[in-house]
Formats: sequence, C-alpha cells, structure tokens
Amino acid sequence: MKRFVKLIVIIIPLLLSAQDKTCAGCGEPVAEGQYLKIGTKFFHPEHFTCNHCGQPIKGKYFELKGRFYDETCYFNHVLPPCAWCNKPLDDRVISFEGKLYHQDCYRKHVALRCAACDGLIESTYFEDFWGNKYHQEHLKNGYKCVYCSRLISEKVTGGGVEYGDGRHVCNLCRKGAIDTEQQAAFLLDRVKELLWEENIRISLETIPVYLVDRPKMQELLGQRSGRETGFTRNRTTFRNGFVSNREFDIFILNGMPEIHFISTVAHELMHVWLHLNASDKMDRRLIEGSCNYASELILKHFADPEKEIILHGLRSEEDPVYGTGYRVVRAWAGKHGRKVWLDYLKEHLSLP
Ligand SMILES: [Zn+2]
Ligand SMILES: [Zn+2]
Ligand SMILES: [Zn+2]
Ligand SMILES: [Zn+2]
Ligand SMILES: [Zn+2]
Ligand SMILES: [Zn+2]
Repeated sequence: MKRFVKLIVIIIPLLLSAQDKTCAGCGEPVAEGQYLKIGTKFFHPEHFTCNHCGQPIKGKYFELKGRFYDETCYFNHVLPPCAWCNKPLDDRVISFEGKLYHQDCYRKHVALRCAACDGLIESTYFEDFWGNKYHQEHLKNGYKCVYCSRLISEKVTGGGVEYGDGRHVCNLCRKGAIDTEQQAAFLLDRVKELLWEENIRISLETIPVYLVDRPKMQELLGQRSGRETGFTRNRTTFRNGFVSNREFDIFILNGMPEIHFISTVAHELMHVWLHLNASDKMDRRLIEGSCNYASELILKHFADPEKEIILHGLRSEEDPVYGTGYRVVRAWAGKHGRKVWLDYLKEHLSLP
C-alpha cells in the first residue's frame, strides 16, 4: 500500500584520519581534518555539490539514483510536484501507487477512507458491490445488508433492521420493501403485463401471491435446491386422466426490496408459463435458466440502479442449474431471438 519515503540524511562532518582518502569530486586527497563522508565516498566540503545547480551542498542533502541534490533543488526541480495539489513536495513525502504526495494531501484526499466511519484504512478492508470500502473490523459486530451488500451503518445506510428470520436489511433497502400482499398483488400484475409485452403470455385471470418468511419458504421448498426467494405451487386437477384445471399459488419471501421482489416474481411467473405451455419433464437447467432469463428481461424495464446487483448475481451464479442453465438460455435466445426461444420451450425437454 503506501509507504513513507526516506529521503533525508543529515550531513555529519567526520573528524577522522584522512590517510589515503581521495575526494570523489576532484580526485585529490582529502586533507587531514574536516571532510565529508557520504556513504562510502569522501568529499572536500566544497566539492560535494548539487547535481542540479552545481553549488556546494550545505545542510540536508538528498540522493536520487546515485546523484546528490540540495533541498531546494531537490523539491523544486528534481522531484515531480505533489500528485494531488501540484505544488512542490516537502521532506515528508508519501508514495502511493507510484505517485508522490504531501503527507496532508495524501491523508485528506488520497488515502483510502472507510465509508462507515471515515477513518483512514491502513490495513485490511472489505468492499461492497458499489465500491465502498470499509475497515474489516466493522464486521465483528456489524452486518452487511443481504440485499445490497452495503455495511449496515449510520453513515452509509442510515442503519438497518434484523428480521425475525435472521436477515439483516439496511434502511435503504427497507424503504421500498414489499411487506403487504396488496403491494405484492399489484406488482405481480405489473410484471405479468410486462411479460405479456415480451410475448410471455399468461392468460390466467388471478394468480394468488403470498408473502412468507424464510422458515416457511424452506418448508415449501422442502428438499429442492431452490433459490429461497420464491416458490410456485402448481395445483393440477385431473379428470379421466386428463388435466382439467391448473391453478397456481406464488410464494415470495417477505420484506424484499421492490426490485428484488420484481425479479423474483418474474422468475416465478415464468414457471407458471412453463407449466401451462411446456412439458413437466423438462430438464431443470432449461426450466430455471429460462426463469432467470425472464427475470433479466423484466429488470430491463426498471431504472432502479439496485438491479445491477441482481443482474450481477445472475451472471456470476455458479450453480449448474441456475447459473449454467441461465447462461446457455441467454446466449441461445440472444442469438435466435425471443420468439424462437419460446417456441423451443414448447417442444423440447433439454437445453439447446
Ligand atoms: Zn575535491
Ligand atoms: Zn542545487
Ligand atoms: Zn500536495
Ligand atoms: Zn471504519
Ligand atoms: Zn441494503
Ligand atoms: Zn425457479
């Protein structure tokens, strides 16, 4: 990271025997008595000169690449100016990432600062999705928001809350969180309309949506390795061996920020579309990959910058079903078009 540059050596005139010693300036023997010893070299005091102005150096000297300078020349002509304020440096230079700064300029403007406490970061730190950096120590008794990854702190998020099911959610995310089934039903309709525009058409009049906490969601998911944010229950009625009626219930994790709710409900509505239009025997990678792709299509309709963390999550998902499935579907639909993708889903069971 940063380091202080040691530049200063004070000349200490040495009163030693000068036998057999020659001046590195003129090559003549130095006289018995006072002379200068710089490293392993000896100088007549008048021959120890500044490489810039040629005058004998009195007081502090500075060495750079084997050459010597007096203080004035060194800071005004040899060193570049401070990379922050552009004024000549002084003898307390700080070097950081290849640039030189005044100590004050560095501390006030350049040094890494913690987004939560504004203190200098001089050792380990962590970074959230948005590039804010924080002292590592804050995690000892603090939490990252499960939705936006920011450190829950007064300065960054205005605090936050812990849900009954253990989720830590910052107040930025709390502000637009979906807590009521009226909000949920309204947004589900909105997403259904947007899917319709994308040719993903679900004609069912009503699809009930329920908000549940984490334990309830885990209970619904059972042994499935699902994302624990949403679940679609399919209630199929058979008559004489044929499907006579299909009904669906959608369960979404409560208290999620609006954009996370939207992304999840788009995914679940795509499940509904698949139940209505495709085979139940479809490969899970094609199912979940397509549902994640539907999420992405819907997120495009929203300007909320917080969606970036969701898109990033989709793209970097490592799970072979949700991640690989999504990437294959996305690339394929991108190449052949949305309509070909939807037709493909109606007729095939596995990834293209
Ligand atoms: Zn000399
Ligand atoms: Zn000089
Ligand atoms: Zn400066
Ligand atoms: Zn801090
Ligand atoms: Zn948050
Ligand atoms: Zn799914």
